[in-house]
Amino acid sequence: MSLKKYRKKSPWILHYNCGSCNGCDIEILAALAPKYDLERFGILNNGNPKQSDIFLVTGPLTYRSRERLVELYTQMPEPKVVVAVGSCTCTGGVFNDMYNVENGIDKYIPVDVYIPGCAASPELIIDGVVKGLEILEQKTKEIEKPKKLLGELDESKASIDRTKFAGNIDDRKN
Ligand code: SF4
Repeated sequence: MSLKKYRKKSPWILHYNCGSCNGCDIEILAALAPKYDLERFGILNNGNPKQSDIFLVTGPLTYRSRERLVELYTQMPEPKVVVAVGSCTCTGGVFNDMYNVENGIDKYIPVDVYIPGCAASPELIIDGVVKGLEILEQKTKEIEKPKKLLGELDESKASIDRTKFAGNIDDRKN
């Protein structure tokens, strides 16, 4: 069964604070709450990277959180979308060029959507996530293209005939 149709209607979000002042994190929570109701897009804030489609990151990326950021990103399955929330996450913002920050996350992971603002407003966060959903749909299509070019994948043809390899290992060398 293709997940393409369902992924766009029920994307799960992973939220990670990599050094923010919490301003943008509060705005994310406001966007998810009933007033702005980001959940109307079927979105669920989920704590597990292995089940998430959209990575919402806040903060200017401190040295101490670099490794964890990359680890979370690599644990997310493809296709995935990264949304940088707030000026800090995009460029370092007010923390730009401080001794302990990396001035944004795109040195370490690819960013699909940049949301400016200090703090980023719930309206902009919703816009950014909706843009992210379009990108997610596009990436899903790109992943499914090779399968389409080959025709529908026939599992029986794709499987290896293991009987060919039965017998004595020495026979196979001849
Ligand atoms: S952009 Fe502003 S509100 Fe958001 S984490 Fe940075 S300093 Fe805080």
